Amino acid sequence: MSAGLKICIVGSGPAGMYAAGAIVKKSPESAKDIIDKLATPYGLVRAGVAPDHQTTKAVTRAYDKVMENENVRFVGNIGLGSDIPLEKLREFYDVVVIATGTPKDRRLGIPGEDKDGVFGAQVFVYWYNGHPEFCDAVPNLDIDTAIVIGNGNVALDVARILMRTEDEMMQSDLAEHAARQIFQSPLQTVHVVGRRAPENAQFSSKELSEFAELTSATTYTDKAILPDGFTSEDKKQEKVVNTNLDLLRSFEQIRPGIKGRSIYLDFLASPVEILGGDTITGVRFERNKIVDGKAYSTGETYVIDCQLLVSCIGYEMGILEGLPVEKGIIKNDEGRVAEGLYVVGWAKRGPSGTIGTNRIDSQNVVDRMLADFAGGGNPAKLGPAGLDAWCREKDIHSVSFDDWKKIDAAEVARGGEASPRKKFVRTRDMLSLLKEKG
Ligand SMILES: Cc1cc2nc3c(=O)[nH]c(=O)nc-3n(C[C@H](O)[C@H](O)[C@H](O)COP(=O)(O)OP(=O)(O)OC[C@H]3O[C@@H](n4cnc5c(N)ncnc54)[C@H](O)[C@@H]3O)c2cc1C
Repeated sequence: MSAGLKICIVGSGPAGMYAAGAIVKKSPESAKDIIDKLATPYGLVRAGVAPDHQTTKAVTRAYDKVMENENVRFVGNIGLGSDIPLEKLREFYDVVVIATGTPKDRRLGIPGEDKDGVFGAQVFVYWYNGHPEFCDAVPNLDIDTAIVIGNGNVALDVARILMRTEDEMMQSDLAEHAARQIFQSPLQTVHVVGRRAPENAQFSSKELSEFAELTSATTYTDKAILPDGFTSEDKKQEKVVNTNLDLLRSFEQIRPGIKGRSIYLDFLASPVEILGGDTITGVRFERNKIVDGKAYSTGETYVIDCQLLVSCIGYEMGILEGLPVEKGIIKNDEGRVAEGLYVVGWAKRGPSGTIGTNRIDSQNVVDRMLADFAGGGNPAKLGPAGLDAWCREKDIHSVSFDDWKKIDAAEVARGGEASPRKKFVRTRDMLSLLKEKG
């Protein structure tokens, strides 16, 4: 039964790691290489999850166990497309599982989106989390007002990180370059703007409740638009929404006007134009109303002046040669893309759900893949030996799991007592460290 398959998983985020874990259980003897374009594993757990949410990041302990399995290898610092084409991976391995996530910001699609001071969430979050490709994104935070577009947890993360004080960020792993900018910023006001009603917001109650605890900012919302209560056939959803509505009602009473910094949670508005010359100076919004659960413009417009906009409206797949992309995801039939080619995680179903959502999803795709290969793989495939030869030939300095453990230990040591880790944000510094350590 599927003995001795040679499998390459592209991407070491949650979806890739849950896929690897499922294969370890169900086809232990298969050779599993997990490649990642970064020298560091675990995708958005390192580069997306907010730096002040360290308990969420503890999920990596389970991923470490998978990585330590004798038939699993982490091969970091090798990008699909940039370092190796898909066709080569398919030539080397019986199965390639794409787990790249959705690495591109969805655009707002309004005039002015390319002005300085306008960022997608991916860029902004990767910047403050020290992702090597975005550590030079450098937003100007010498500003008084920021607008965050979106009504999901990522929008809340961005607003909260902008408003947290240095004391509040102790014990976080906020990248050093971002900490310098954020703590010195004279920022006074953040508007978080969603196009639908408060009861439609995708916030989780835990994330929303953190706004009641901020020590230097008060959160406001227009109470006139809050419904008395919310009912739904989905009782779980009903509970979350009612808790959120209670939170929205309570914020000002909990922390009235602390030090004058403000967060406004605005609803029922869509950005229609970004104003300014080369640099953003404001955003024109259109007021919305909800009809049959959908947001429609009322025609009324208004402007909020600002110097920074972060758009948190979701992500999509970029172009990767050989992969059919449709509606922002890799076109697939329950995870199957083509013979020997599968997809899991956000690349498969789009950017929704929590880390845990990827577990069942990846397990299902692995079941399907193992059933497809019940007759076994092709013994002529080179598997890991083919990848190693490719890296040697192309002079690619791949990073193993042992290498990552050295980087990890060095980051933790650099963090000292103040922080769980001080991240390296440049791959070249990680590679230099590995050279030093031998
Ligand atoms: C800002 C943010 C905060 C979040 N916070 C939480 C939270 O607090 N709690 C929670 O439960 N969920 C959270 N989520 C959701 C969670 O992160 C996702 O559900 C999960 O990470 C999706 O997993 P994935 O493996 O599909 O993608 P990713 O985590 O994006 O992993 C993709 C991996 O593929 C690699 N890769 C990409 N392209 C290539 C390539 N060409 N070649 C090789 N490797 C490549 C990347 O480097 C990355 O390691 C958050 C998401 C975001 C965006």
